[in-house]
Amino acid sequence: MQEIVIPAIPGDGIGPEIMAATKKAVEAAVQRAYEGSRGIRWSDLLAGEAAFKAVGEWLPQSTQDAIRSSGVALKGPLTTPVGGGIRSLNVALRQALDLYSSVRPVRYFEGVPSPVKHPQKLDVVIFRENTEDVYKGIEWRKGSEEAKELIELLKSRFSVDIRPDSGLGVKPMSEFASKRLIRAAVNYAIKKKRRSVTLVHKGNIMKFTEGAFRDWGYELAKDEFPDLVVREANIPASGGGLPAGKVLMNDRIADNMFQQILTRPEEYSVLATPNLNGDYLADACAAQVGGLGLAPGANIGDGIAVFEAVHGTAPKYAGKDVANPCSLMLSAAMMLDHLGLEKAAVLLVGGIERSLADGIRTQDLARLENDSESVGTRRFTDEVVVRLG
Ligand code: NAP
Repeated sequence: MQEIVIPAIPGDGIGPEIMAATKKAVEAAVQRAYEGSRGIRWSDLLAGEAAFKAVGEWLPQSTQDAIRSSGVALKGPLTTPVGGGIRSLNVALRQALDLYSSVRPVRYFEGVPSPVKHPQKLDVVIFRENTEDVYKGIEWRKGSEEAKELIELLKSRFSVDIRPDSGLGVKPMSEFASKRLIRAAVNYAIKKKRRSVTLVHKGNIMKFTEGAFRDWGYELAKDEFPDLVVREANIPASGGGLPAGKVLMNDRIADNMFQQILTRPEEYSVLATPNLNGDYLADACAAQVGGLGLAPGANIGDGIAVFEAVHGTAPKYAGKDVANPCSLMLSAAMMLDHLGLEKAAVLLVGGIERSLADGIRTQDLARLENDSESVGTRRFTDEVVVRLG
């Protein structure tokens, strides 16, 4: 039997329960897909509160090293330490491993209550730059020495007036980081035969950061994918459309994108965004198809990928067998696909699809429809396993 070792971080709060559920569903899908010729062995790693209690560190070096050496991990939600030295464990992990693309596929599952009329029209994958932009954390508090000095410098050197009672933040966006993110989005679109890559930006206002993101995207398409990517502007209006086998590249200003994703969702496929736009857009898209409980995610770098539930630890539900495990299960399906176990990934997604379509729901989804009957985490998992295909 070919066995794949997968590092798993169960996480805090509801993490251990949804991780146990996900492991069970993954093992069943792999068994069903490969009839014993392939198998999974989990290697549990410490991070978050569990790590702090066990070894006095929130993100042990041994955990980072294990993920680095295996190139993959499945991760449950982690508590953000309050008042600790680390701003966010998730951000720290992304930075330590240089996981520069946040990848969030968003699609509808039949049977899930949604706030829009045709949620099935949305099927997008959002590639969000993970390392730069205003999230880089370069900020100075109002009145600090640094803020005063910078305000003075901007005035004396560049004749820029800033109110003295301002806090300051810096928004760096580099050609290198923007291009590697857009390259990942284009490669994904080509591999998965998706129709288009849309560059989402606010370049009409922030010309040398967001506007440059768009320009670097088109430049990358021209330099690196000249035979595969076609710019929207180069498709003649007089018919013809996109030639077969090609990927369309276009761009949309962020505010327009939020509107279009609601009014013409079927026109969009892969979205490549800077950090802040992508953060907002991914959750807005998830809300359109029924909320974060069903949204999977991955943070991917070069040769290394961490797949994770996008929600948090939901501490009030910890240990109660009520949490929805779908987000982590769907992230695990992305992981199986990434590992070349596509058949198991398809079975796992199919099991979740059929369970939801049959009206089997955890309480977070059931209550959206007048508290229709709900099942617990373990029972939901069993129903998924039965429906794997
Ligand atoms: P949260 O844990 O996502 O929970 C907010 C609410 O979302 C819950 O009270 C619950 O809603 C619902 N919810 C989330 N996941 C659910 C699931 N799987 N099943 C059912 N309901 C679910 O957000 P938070 O309360 O802001 O954060 C709690 C902790 O998690 C914090 O320490 C935060 O830093 C951390 N966090 C970690 C990650 C991560 O590791 N990726 C992400 C976000 C937050 P109702 O109360 O309406 O039932």
